[in-house]
Amino acid sequence: MRELTPQEREALYIKHECPFCQSKKFDYGPEGGLSRNIFCTKCGAGYNVYPAELPGGQVIRHPKEGAPKEGWGSPQGIDLNDPYGGED
Ligand SMILES: [Zn+2]
Repeated sequence: MRELTPQEREALYIKHECPFCQSKKFDYGPEGGLSRNIFCTKCGAGYNVYPAELPGGQVIRHPKEGAPKEGWGSPQGIDLNDPYGGED
């Protein structure tokens, strides 16, 4: 688990999309206090988010850690092990 980066916060809180795969579909987990867990239905990433007016939020499951099904690969052709490219 780690804190969201400013770019990830913008994606989740403003664009309402998954920072890893840009999907806009999420499963909503239980609410606990002010925070809530959400999970991307496409890549399986999980986030702990707060109301937008509050700071904070964490990545609770990276896509690499939480492949939702067998054969999960690279959404939209992005290699999440090397998201910034580099063939060699
Ligand atoms: Zn995703």
